[in-house]
Parts: sequence; C-alpha cells; structure tokens
Amino acid sequence: MAESNFVDYVKIYCRSGKGGRGSMHLRHIKYQPNGGPDGGDGGRGGNIYLRGNHNYWTLLHLKYQRHVFAEHGGNGGRDKCHGKDGKDVYIDVPCGTVVYNAETGKYVCDVTYHGQEVLLLKGGRGGLGNFQFRSATNQTPRFAQPGEPMEEMTIILELKLLADVGLVGFPNAGKSTLLSSLSSARPKIANYPFTTLEPSLGIVGYHDRQSFVMADIPGIIEGASEGKGLGLRFLRHIERNSLLLFMVPGDTDDIKREYEILLNELRQFNPDMLDKHRVLAVTKCDLLDDELIDMLRDTLPEDVPVVFISSVTGMGLNELKDVLWRELNSESNKLQGIIAEDNLVHRDKDMSRFAAEMQAEGEDEIIYIDEDEIEDLDDFEYDEEDTDD
Ligand code: GDP
Ligand code: MG
Repeated sequence: MAESNFVDYVKIYCRSGKGGRGSMHLRHIKYQPNGGPDGGDGGRGGNIYLRGNHNYWTLLHLKYQRHVFAEHGGNGGRDKCHGKDGKDVYIDVPCGTVVYNAETGKYVCDVTYHGQEVLLLKGGRGGLGNFQFRSATNQTPRFAQPGEPMEEMTIILELKLLADVGLVGFPNAGKSTLLSSLSSARPKIANYPFTTLEPSLGIVGYHDRQSFVMADIPGIIEGASEGKGLGLRFLRHIERNSLLLFMVPGDTDDIKREYEILLNELRQFNPDMLDKHRVLAVTKCDLLDDELIDMLRDTLPEDVPVVFISSVTGMGLNELKDVLWRELNSESNKLQGIIAEDNLVHRDKDMSRFAAEMQAEGEDEIIYIDEDEIEDLDDFEYDEEDTDD
C-alpha cells in the first residue's frame, strides 16, 4: 500500500541567519592618513516565521522542503557601511498545524488562523563596527564585534484536521458514503478493505448557508490504538473534532456492543476523547424494515443520541444534521484543546465560517493533490520570492 498522499506530518531543519560581522576599519585616504575608525555594523540575520495560510489544506508543499535557511546578515564595511539585513523566511502552513521540536519532542506552537505569524527562529543581531567603539580614551579601536550566531531547530509539523464532526466506525460502516451524500467531497468508496486511506474533509451545508466540516477517518479496527492498524496514524486527526459521530451498521448483531468496542478503542488511544460529545448513527437502515427498527430501539445505548439513517435512500439524514448541529452548538461542547491547552488559540468557528464563504462562492469541494500528478517536484520547493516581507 503506497504511502498516503495526504501529508499530515513533515520534518524540516530550520536555521535562521547569523548576524553580520561589524567591520574593523581605519580610514586611510589621501591627506588624511589617520582618518580614524569607520567600520560599519553588521546586518541582522534573517528570521524564520511560520504563517497560517488558509489556502493550504495539507503540508504537501513542504514535503520536499527538508531545509529552510534564512539569509545571513551582511558584514559591515568601511565608511560606516551597515551590512545588509538577511531576508526573513515565512513558512506557510495550513491552519491547524501543530509544531514540535523534533529533537526533544517538545511542543513549540500552534498555527491556528489565517495570517497568524509565529517567530520560530530569530536571526542573530549584527555586530557593531569599530566606529561605534571610538571614545576619548580610545580614538582608534582596533576591534569590532562579531555578529550573533544563528539559531537552528529541526521541527515537526503536524496537521490536525479542524473538523467539527469526526466519523468513527469500523471499515464498511458507511462513513465514506455518508460523507459523499451529505457533502460534495467525494472520498473513495469501497475500493479495498480500508476504503479510506486518507482523511477527507467534507463541507456539510445546513439551513441558511450555515455549514460544518465533517471528516471521514480511515476505519478504526480493533487494536488500532496499540498501533496495529491503519487507524492510529489517522486517529490523531480526530483529537480535536468537537463532535464524534459513531457509525454502526443496522444489520450488526449487537449495536450497543459494537458502539462500546469503538468507545474502548478511543479510550485506549486517548481518554480525553471521551469528553467529546457523541452521536450514534445506525447506518444502512434501508436494509431493515420498520418493525425491526422499532425492535432495535430498545437495545440501544442510553448515553448518546441515536439516529437511524440510510445514505442510500436519504432516510434520517436531515434529522442527523439537526442533531449534529444542535450538539455542535451546545454550550457544553465548546472546543477545548486536548494537548497544549494553554497555547491553543481560540479557534472560534473558523472552519465553519470559511466553509460558509466557500459555499457562498459556489466552491464547496476541497481538492487533494495526487502525488502522482505532480510532475515537477521542484514546483513544491519553497518559493523564497513569495516570502519577502
Ligand atoms: P466506510 O468503510 O465506513 O467508509 O464504508 P463505505 O462508505 O465505504 O461503505 C461500505 C459499503 O456499505 C459500501 O459497499 C456502500 O455501498 C455500503 N453502504 C454505505 N451506506 C449504505 C446505506 O445507507 N445503505 C446500504 N444499503 N448500503 C450502504
Ligand atoms: Mg471509507
């Protein structure tokens, strides 16, 4: 199975610019052989910033950018010439990117909203030239400062999907199908046992141009939380969903038990996930008759709202949207960051708002770039010219 095209994790070595050296220069010109010190200061090294950009949905554009260097400051020169400041570099990342230090594993920052700039590495200050050191007692200082050194760090960027609703269910529960029927995102359906190899986002419209974002996540299989299955890698993505939609097919022998197995998987992965609001959808109800549905009602878990749906006939889908919307907006379901809570910038309903904007413009499809379609990988090199400030 090929590596997923959905790049949700990249490692980059970053280095800011070092400060330029101050110049040690004594002026010697015709008729002025002892012109005194005139060495200029060195320039500042370039900074490295991370910048939130809502035009990016993945980290794909950084996949081939293993190194990011900011420019060094220029050295000071004679005649009090100030060295050139190094160019700053901006690394554009999708909103919702979390940054870690690769060596220590420590959390560095979150980039959560469009236009947010985070100073990652500071360039070194330039050194002072000898002109700055002249004084009554030392009229010809024969020294100048070196520039400050650069900073370096290897970072890991991790993209957490900022979906409002995350789908949780075993393979074949009907997750992809539901997402396709509720939104215009078209995830792959039933090609192989794990029909979804990458999380897909779908924008679900709801009355009056309101909308929310739903994420289809590859099937959780038993043991996924111990790293046995595909699930683990993608489970991370639902750490931050503000609502989990559990999906169990209506023809399952014991719906309640299957729901509990799913819950248990989540608990093992991250117990905090159980704090999220949950809704249970019993799927594929077109396969059941009304009588059977009535019988099932008595066997359902009590701690969760349940909706009977069929993505094929459309049964229950409006009711499902109502329930999801109600739960999403309930006071007790305000988003709380699970990791790095202190640092989590208030997300508001950014994604929903963006989704609404996109819908207003008639664009409701989020397109993922297929890696095979990229002919020239150089196109994905970080473009320094775009990063001028
Ligand atoms: P996923 O693995 O959870 O994403 O499941 P899929 O959406 O790929 O669906 C698995 C299979 O169930 C596919 O063959 C779908 O056609 C079928 N399926 C999904 N939803 C329904 C439904 O509402 N009714 C019926 N009859 N079949 C469905
Ligand atoms: Mg699927």
